[in-house]
Amino acid sequence: MARKIVVIGAGPGGYAAAVHAAGLGAEVTIIERDKVGGTCLNRGCIPSKVMITTAGMLDGFHRAAEFGIAVEGRIRPDLRQLTARREKVIGDQAKGLHDLFDRHGITYMSGMGILSRPGVAAVRAADGATREVRWDRLILAPGTQPFEFPAFPFDGERILSSDDALRLTEVPQSVLIVGGGVIGCEFAFILASLGSRVTVLEALDRVLPLPSVDEDCSRVLQREMKKRKIGFLPKRTVENVEYADGKLHVATGPSPLARELTQKDKERLFIDVEKMLICVGRKPDTEGLGLENLAVPLDDRGWIVAGDRMETAVSGVFAVGDALGPSKIMLAHVASAEGMVAAENAMSGNRTMAYDAVPGAIFTAPEVACVGLTEAQARERGFAVRAESVLFRTVGKAQVLGEIAGEAKIVSEEANGRIIGVHIIGPHATELIAEGTLAVRMRLTVRDLAETIHAHPTLAEIIPEVAFRSLPKAPES
Ligand code: FAD
Repeated sequence: MARKIVVIGAGPGGYAAAVHAAGLGAEVTIIERDKVGGTCLNRGCIPSKVMITTAGMLDGFHRAAEFGIAVEGRIRPDLRQLTARREKVIGDQAKGLHDLFDRHGITYMSGMGILSRPGVAAVRAADGATREVRWDRLILAPGTQPFEFPAFPFDGERILSSDDALRLTEVPQSVLIVGGGVIGCEFAFILASLGSRVTVLEALDRVLPLPSVDEDCSRVLQREMKKRKIGFLPKRTVENVEYADGKLHVATGPSPLARELTQKDKERLFIDVEKMLICVGRKPDTEGLGLENLAVPLDDRGWIVAGDRMETAVSGVFAVGDALGPSKIMLAHVASAEGMVAAENAMSGNRTMAYDAVPGAIFTAPEVACVGLTEAQARERGFAVRAESVLFRTVGKAQVLGEIAGEAKIVSEEANGRIIGVHIIGPHATELIAEGTLAVRMRLTVRDLAETIHAHPTLAEIIPEVAFRSLPKAPES
């Protein structure tokens, strides 16, 4: 008899696990309480990139004259049409997922999955009717919700979560984005392109203050934000918010997380805005799931704990995706990769998840992308490294496109040229990083990339350019 696998949550972690397990011969049921595709398809990657596409086209139209196009009349965003397009893209993708489930004989159950007792999951439908499904192996992929400040909770009107920001029906005149991480920065560029006056407030001292993002990328992005008149308030936190006269009056002060505060950093600063968008992280979406009934362990912040085989401490119970928290990497493609590892191990395989060659893609303007160690991380870990960069302005195709801001950096081991990190900020960085990911994963050297012929004229030529610059210097004769 086929092994019964139940998957809870149909985001990228859950659906990848379900399809892979079915492909390996399991009898799979996937339970989803909301909509197929999870955060990624409905409230994350896809709708935000639909908005970014529109924002990028608007930017292009504003530069039309430079490219020899005369535009007459006013160019303005139409959020109704943007919404319609977003829904169409999401609808088509959702249909594709349901077709995939059908093709693999996967049972899709709509309702809240509740772990009532070992070996059994209850599914409570919207009308309250409950059914039970038996499992031999369980894969948990419940994802996350936006983190909310208790002092100023989301109201969907003035204090927005990223879910709310994706559903805006009008362009706000002014927005304070709290949190200069990936989601905050992506929204900063979207809203600025749509016509909002945007300020980003960040508790640490740089935009994108993630360990995986090289400081040079943050520096260039900050410069590009300034060019677009996006305000940036580093080392600050929100102390108080009041609503009066049709505006939010926001009091900001020094962040307890920031170091080396100057007198100016320590001063209170007030800002009036129409809306605030809170992008300060996510929290696990495990309430009501019944993890306690199986004694699935959580860490002290409520994230599910699983090892690199994706199995929890409870034998036969696996967990994947964002619900594992920031100690793993919270990205859609990581969730899917973990889902596949969990599926294989649930079918008696023995795979471990490798996190050392995971690309990160940030869809700002210009884009940022990274894989492997930053220069700072490599030095901290004791590597003798070579870090070389090339500016996009030296690449012919970047000049042709009129997208010359940014650079590409390769971090390699001094002794043998092995590539341990690639960091790109510039046009199509999120596509270009694929070559860097392969290089890090396959332990290629700078010579391998320098000697690989790249088509001309392409943006990808920047990679062999940096690699060439990273080659050991020939000894002087
Ligand atoms: P989710 O996608 O959150 O899916 C979990 C699903 O489980 C949900 O559908 C939920 O309804 C369901 N669920 C929860 N509990 C239950 C239950 N008890 N019973 C039944 N169903 C349940 N990542 C990228 O890689 N690239 C990007 O460009 C990117 N952009 C983003 C932009 C935004 C604005 C946001 C918010 C996120 C973005 N992300 C991006 C992150 C990405 O969305 C997540 O990493 C990814 O969705 C995680 O997948 P998951 O399967 O773990 O969880």
